[in-house]
Amino acid sequence: MFCARCGKGNEDSSAFCSSCGTKLGDVQLGKKRQLSRIAGILDIVSAGLALAVVLVWAIIWFRVGDAIGLWYALFVPFLVIWLVGIAVAIVGGIHALRRSSWNWAIVGAVAATAMGIWFIGMAALVLTALARDEFRQPLPLSQNS
Ligand SMILES: [Zn+2]
Repeated sequence: MFCARCGKGNEDSSAFCSSCGTKLGDVQLGKKRQLSRIAGILDIVSAGLALAVVLVWAIIWFRVGDAIGLWYALFVPFLVIWLVGIAVAIVGGIHALRRSSWNWAIVGAVAATAMGIWFIGMAALVLTALARDEFRQPLPLSQNS
């Protein structure tokens, strides 16, 4: 039987994965695993579309901005913040695809909502929240506190 979380092949008689300790036969986890992938793709799609919009805006603005000086200067910090947000959305999306960090995936989905195409980012945020179980879990010790 293959582990739903890490994909390692285990003896059919095993109750838990020998690699990551996940309970085997957890069909729910197998289904949920798709959510983080979709969320990661949505993060990156949202960020990619936002990047295209930003580039079009930048081209238009820098042409118009030449004529009106001050606005040209104001647009630069705005552009930098936007690009940073897009980068965060992409990093979060990669973490969601790899299921490596739920916190990063959530931050990325928030960035994808704020800086990207908001309804795609919002969908990624909901899916990331639902996919909590798919991500690498904190050490068992922290569950006691
Ligand atoms: Zn496993």
